[in-house]
Amino acid sequence: MTSTALAPEPLAAARAELRRLFGFADFRGVQADVVARVLGGQSTLAVMPTGAGKSLTYQLPATMLAGCCVVISPLIALMHDQLRSARANGIRAATLTSVDADWRETMRAFEEGALDLLYVAPERASQPGFRDLLGRAALSLFAVDEAHCVSEWGHDFRPDYRQLRPLMDAFPQVPRLALTATADEHTRQDILTQLGIPADGMVLAGFDRPNIRYAIRPRQHGPKQLADLLAEVPGPGIVYAPTRKKVEQLAETLAATTGRRVLPYHAGLDPQTRGDNQSAFVASEDMVIVATVAFGMGIDKPDVRFVAHAGIPKSIEGYYQETGRAGRDGDPAQAVMFWGAGDFATARQRLAELDPARQAGERARLDALAGLVEAPGCRRAVLLRHFGEEPPATCGNCDNCLSPPKTADASELAQKLLSAAYRTGQSYGLTHLAKVLTGEADERVRQRGHDALSVFGIVPAEDAPLLKPLVRALQAQGVLVANAHGGLELGGDARAILKGERAVEIVLPPPRERRARRGRGGDSTPNPVGDPLFDALRALRRDLAADAGVPPYVIFHDAVLRAMAAERPASLAALAAIPGVGEKKLDAFGAAFLKAIREN
Ligand code: ADP
Ligand code: ZN
Repeated sequence: MTSTALAPEPLAAARAELRRLFGFADFRGVQADVVARVLGGQSTLAVMPTGAGKSLTYQLPATMLAGCCVVISPLIALMHDQLRSARANGIRAATLTSVDADWRETMRAFEEGALDLLYVAPERASQPGFRDLLGRAALSLFAVDEAHCVSEWGHDFRPDYRQLRPLMDAFPQVPRLALTATADEHTRQDILTQLGIPADGMVLAGFDRPNIRYAIRPRQHGPKQLADLLAEVPGPGIVYAPTRKKVEQLAETLAATTGRRVLPYHAGLDPQTRGDNQSAFVASEDMVIVATVAFGMGIDKPDVRFVAHAGIPKSIEGYYQETGRAGRDGDPAQAVMFWGAGDFATARQRLAELDPARQAGERARLDALAGLVEAPGCRRAVLLRHFGEEPPATCGNCDNCLSPPKTADASELAQKLLSAAYRTGQSYGLTHLAKVLTGEADERVRQRGHDALSVFGIVPAEDAPLLKPLVRALQAQGVLVANAHGGLELGGDARAILKGERAVEIVLPPPRERRARRGRGGDSTPNPVGDPLFDALRALRRDLAADAGVPPYVIFHDAVLRAMAAERPASLAALAAIPGVGEKKLDAFGAAFLKAIREN
C-alpha cells in the first residue's frame, strides 16, 4: 500500500473544494492519497473497489488544476452517466462520442479552455486528429477509467487501450491517473507498464465493501426464496440468472408472485426493449431486473439494495464484481446467492470441454468458489483472503457471522456414500443411492440386486437427512461428478476420502431460515418509507428528475433525503450543511426542497 506524504496545503484546498462542489464533509479512504498525488503531478494507479468513489479522484482535481482533464472510458452509457453527475455538481464537462451531436461546440469549448473534463472512448485515442485537438489547449490530467482493459491479464482486454500510451507519451508533462476496481497483482503490474506509470505510483484500497451483507444458501423450492427476498427488500435489485430462458421464466414468476415491478434483461431481447428495461431500472426507486451477467457493466446506479444470484457465478472474481453493484451509495445492501449442486456439476462438465491448457486454471477458480459457498465461517473473510488481504476472522455482517451454521463431521457417511456409488456402477443419482444406503428395497433396488450389496442398509435412519447436503458438498468439490444421465461418478479426492486420508465436514442447512431472516429484516432498508416527509421529498425528487431527464439519484441520494427528513432544515444555510448538498445543487433545488419540508 502506498501512502503519500501529504502536503497539507493542497489537500486543505481540495477539502474546501470537496465541500463546495460535492457537499461532502471529507475524503473517504484512499481518496485523499490519490487526490494529493494527482494535484502534485504524480502519475498514479488507483485500485479502489466499486463505490469507493473513484470518479471524485479526477473530477475534483480537474476543477482545481489549470487545463482540461481528458477521461478515457470504455462505455458510452457509462460516460453519459458520469457526465450527468458531473454537470449536476456544476463541473464543466463534455463527451466526444459517436452519439453526440454537439461536437463542434465541445471542440470549441475545449480549445477555449472552458472545459474541466472531456470524456472520450479509447478508439478516439488512436486518431491523429484527436492528438492534434489535444495539442490546441492546456491539459491537466489523463484519467484512464477501467484501466484493467489495457491488460491481457485482466478479464476485459480491449486492444484500443493499447493506443493510449503513445497518445499520452505525446504529452509527457501531463500526469496520468489509471483507475480500476478489479485487478490482481499480475494485472496491476501490467497496467503500470502498459500505461507508463512508475512502479511506486500505486495506491491500493482494501477490497472490503462493509455495507454489503453476504449470504449464500442452498436453493430450495424454486423461486420461493427469491420471492421472499423481494418481499423483504423493497429497494431496487438485480437478480442474476444463468441463461436467457431462466431470466425470462424468473422475471415472469417473480412479477406474478410478488406484485413488484420486475423486468428481464438479456442479449436475446430486441435492442429497444433491452434499452427500455435498462433505463426503467436506472430511473426507478423500487424495480427489480432479472438479468444475465451481461447486465451491469456500464451501469452505476448507486442505490441498488440487493444483488441476488439464482445460480453460481463463474468465479469469486465474478461474484465480487456482480455483488459489488449493490450499495454503491454506502447504504446497507444485500448480496444473496442461491446455489444448487447441479450448478457445480454443470460447470465441471464444461471444464472437460475446454482446451486442456486452460482446464487447471478454471478448475482452481471453481474450487475456490466451492470453498466460498461451503465455508462454515465468515464469507467476507474468505472473499478478502482470496484477494490477498488478511481480514479479521469475523465480520458481523454475513450469514455465517450472524447465525453460525452447525457443521458435522461426515467422513464416515461420505465413505458409505462413495462406496455405494462405486458398487452400484457409478450410474445412479442420490434418490436411488439413498434407498440402497438406508435399506429401502423398492422394486428397482431389488431388480438390480442392490439389496444384496454390503452397503445395503448401512446408514441409520437418523443420518439419512445428511445425505442431501453431503452430496451437494461433494459435488461442489468435484468428489462426486454427475454424468450425462444423472449418475454420480467418483472424482477428485474420492479415493483419499474412501481410504480415510481426508476428512469431510459439511455445513448443515439452517432450520427455518426464513423466519430467522425476517426477524432482522428492517436494517437492510434504511429508508423511512411511509414517513410522509420522506415520501414527499422522494416525490419531489422524481418530478425534478423527470424535468431534467436524469435518474432521481443524480438529484440527491437517498441518504441526503433521509437527512433532510430527519433534520428538517429551515434555511438554505442549514440545507447546505447536509452532506451531499453542494453549491450547484443548493442553487438548483434548494428552494424546492425547503418548500417541501415546510409543507409536510
Ligand atoms: P466508484 O466509481 O469507485 O464505484 P463512484 O465514483 O461512483 O464510485 O462513487 C460512489 C458513490 O460515493 C457516489 O455516489 C459518490 O457521490 C459517493 N462519494 C464519493 N466520494 C465521497 C465522499 N468523500 N464522501 C461521501 N460520498 C462520496
Ligand atoms: Zn462474516
